[in-house]
Amino acid sequence: MTENTKPEIIRVDHLVKTYGSITAVNDISFTVAPGEIFAFLGPNGAGKSTSIKMLTTLLRPTSGGVYLNGYDVLKEPAAARKSFGIVFQDPSVDIELTGYENLKYHALLYDVPKAVYQARIDELLALVDLSDRRNDYVKIYSGGMKRRLEIARGLLHHPKVFFLDEPTLGLDPQTRNHIWTYIKELNKKEGITIFFTTHYMDEADRMADRIAIIDNGSIVAMGPSEELKQKTGAATLEEAFLSLTGKQIREEEAGARAQFRDHARAWGRR
Ligand code: ADP
Repeated sequence: MTENTKPEIIRVDHLVKTYGSITAVNDISFTVAPGEIFAFLGPNGAGKSTSIKMLTTLLRPTSGGVYLNGYDVLKEPAAARKSFGIVFQDPSVDIELTGYENLKYHALLYDVPKAVYQARIDELLALVDLSDRRNDYVKIYSGGMKRRLEIARGLLHHPKVFFLDEPTLGLDPQTRNHIWTYIKELNKKEGITIFFTTHYMDEADRMADRIAIIDNGSIVAMGPSEELKQKTGAATLEEAFLSLTGKQIREEEAGARAQFRDHARAWGRR
């Protein structure tokens, strides 16, 4: 089968975004198959957020195309939007409402009929283990609970694709594991396609069917974790990433190293 005849739920075609003289995304192309778990990794400033914004109708590309569930996101943004759910990096649930109310308002926003959303809310609250907290105000939820509620909310309208931008950022390892258990379960149960970014290499390694590594706006490698390791002769995905990009993925480490380098240079000039 050629690349063109494979079933695909996401198609990104020669996508470019420039800001003046900066090329944030430099001609990237790939497809994602229905039901696939796809990780999008890259160092800071590589172009991940810009790409996700273009994939989810929030930003207009300079050139190139994006097709979601068969819809051209530029020409049919409303239909494309109904095809996906999204969990952003920054929490966006309303803490002055209860968990249930947050979900209900989202259902109304997406025109999900009452007969459908009531059962769907029950089902999703059970999926993310929040059934018994549905009537509590979100302001008393923990960070992990808020994130689980956002995941439930993103799924209310039965999307085909779920975009997760750093879904576990800042959560403790146990909560991160829980979140991934839910995501994996819904991927299995509903066949939903998962497109995610993360700074945690172990998550990409364990969860993703395929990984795309983006650096300086271009995709420098794409394939299953094992393939990326083999290609670079690396023992771990972290090493493969370092070998492909010359950079660490973790911002703090990268920041600390840059600082160290600057100090070393300044010291050398003395
Ligand atoms: P990542 O999400 O991988 O950290 P981004 O997509 O945020 O990377 O950024 C890619 C590049 O585009 C960076 O060089 C960044 O500074 C630049 N960039 C992003 N948004 C803008 C903007 N609105 N105006 C100008 N430059 C931008």
